[in-house]
Amino acid sequence: MPQRGLARCRWCATAVHWTITSAGARLAVDANPSALGSTAVYRDGTGTIRSRRPSAELPLLPYERLHLPHAATCIARSLENNPSRRRVS
Ligand SMILES: [Zn+2]
Repeated sequence: MPQRGLARCRWCATAVHWTITSAGARLAVDANPSALGSTAVYRDGTGTIRSRRPSAELPLLPYERLHLPHAATCIARSLENNPSRRRVS
């Protein structure tokens, strides 16, 4: 049974969760939680996966997990977005 919200990055095929940020934008995070993560991820009452940035006022809550935004870890996209590497080949 596929996990709801689980998808694959179109660039590197890593499993990601598509989340909705507190600003209402879509943000892909790595499916696996990371202690180094900067984004708090939780599932709301309707099953929507939401993300937000923990702050001093609102630190990580017990039902939230830290994840890394996938854009920070995506190998394929970092290659594509780095013109100096593209010039090498
Ligand atoms: Zn990727």
